[in-house]
Amino acid sequence: METGFLQNFWQYAYFLAAVTIVFSIKWLSSPTTARRGVIAGEIGFALAVVGTLLRAGMTNYTQIVIAMIIGAAIGAPMALLMPMTAVPQFTALSHAFGALAAALVGTAEYYKGAPPTGAEMVALTIEVLLGYLTFTASIMAFAKLQDLIPTRPMTYKGQNFVNLALLALAAGIGVWMIVAPTPAWAYPVFIGLSLLFGVLLILPIGGGDMPTVIALLNSYAGASACAMGFALNNQMLIIAGATNAASGFILSVIMCKAMNRSFTNVLFGAFGQVQAADKTKAAAKPVRSATAEDAAMILANAQKVIIVPGYGMAVAQAQHKVRELTDQLVKRGVDVQFAIHPVAGRMPGHMNVLLAEADIPYDRLHEMEDINNEFSEADVALVIGANDVVNPAARHDKSSPIYGMPILDVDKAHTVMVIKRSMNPGFAGIENELYYNDKTLMLFGDAKAFVSEIVKEVAAQAPVAA
Ligand code: NAP
Repeated sequence: METGFLQNFWQYAYFLAAVTIVFSIKWLSSPTTARRGVIAGEIGFALAVVGTLLRAGMTNYTQIVIAMIIGAAIGAPMALLMPMTAVPQFTALSHAFGALAAALVGTAEYYKGAPPTGAEMVALTIEVLLGYLTFTASIMAFAKLQDLIPTRPMTYKGQNFVNLALLALAAGIGVWMIVAPTPAWAYPVFIGLSLLFGVLLILPIGGGDMPTVIALLNSYAGASACAMGFALNNQMLIIAGATNAASGFILSVIMCKAMNRSFTNVLFGAFGQVQAADKTKAAAKPVRSATAEDAAMILANAQKVIIVPGYGMAVAQAQHKVRELTDQLVKRGVDVQFAIHPVAGRMPGHMNVLLAEADIPYDRLHEMEDINNEFSEADVALVIGANDVVNPAARHDKSSPIYGMPILDVDKAHTVMVIKRSMNPGFAGIENELYYNDKTLMLFGDAKAFVSEIVKEVAAQAPVAA
């Protein structure tokens, strides 16, 4: 009886793991339940690993333990030391490892005994193709985001044709291997083409689109793991891989929508090379700048303030100072709300994570579509290190690379204040007409230092009358 339970334990573990992983994704979709989602995901994957280790036929525990120790020795310090702003590139790196693992398992299966045939070979071919191309594409994405290679799109004439021809050739060899016995060189060539396609796929994509591409690569890695599940007849891999593939795909669709871009535009559009800012225009136009004291005076006397955080707040790690400012203003009876653009920062949910870390209550955080019509009633829109997501050119300038991207309508507020260090452009590399608007005050400085100054100045203001 007891032996039966132990023998079948992996089945119970897989079932529980599948349920926990699905709930984990559900809970991760809201900041209030996100922590529970992370814990559920960890429990789910731990169950899947333990279940697999206890499956019949597992004998090589020493090798497995050594591999786990090496993996943990690399992964744990990476997670602990990685700054928040580097999450996109490290996510790319972890996809690279996951995809390589799937591809290597597929390769081992292929060479183990007689090459597989039929449905198993179909699954294996998909697994290996997606696994190897995701591996090199993710390494390239990591290198671009980490500035190890130029982030600008690298393009040449006929590039899309070359890429598609290469993919077709790899797919052709894959089909050949499925339907007929192939010569010994076919499989290594298939692997080589998959690896090369991954590199060429990323070359024409600019650093700007890399987070979207990473979500897509996440989806490919999941699809590869799912195919591996079919090849190895492992239900857990099928469920986890399919969930991963679907969620990565949905995420990339959401990101494309938030930037008003199509998939083909992200993959083939070479975004990032046409946005050279018109520096002459920038130099010619005057801007109004103000001090922390001016800003504090305006904020302390406002009734409604909407704060718009962006990438600069993340770089400066200003979220705790922003929390102090919020507290000070709320104490004075000011209605303070936060407007969160879906692609503010460098990864989905970037701003939510930082503001949650600083204990800013969730009910003050509003999605773009929920808060956009409130800007016209706001006395102040305080933009902290955001740029592209508040650029009005997206609404009317058809020649702008961000034309059509939904933006936060900060220019509808009575007064706009922008904290940033210089007139330099943001991620898309384009000038922002908001800074030249008559109602805009530029607050030049590092976000953390400047907000800190404002907090001191607000605290020094006369207390509010009871
Ligand atoms: P942004 O357009 O990149 O602008 C950030 C601004 O922060 C810069 O103009 C910079 O100006 C300022 N800054 C940098 N360091 C600062 C510091 N220490 N203190 C104060 N300011 C600082 O950022 P965003 O408005 O958040 O827009 C995000 C961009 O990333 C969009 O173009 C979006 O499409 C893209 N993107 C996002 C995602 C995502 O998932 N979130 C994915 C793909 C692409 P100074 O240098 O003058 O200080």
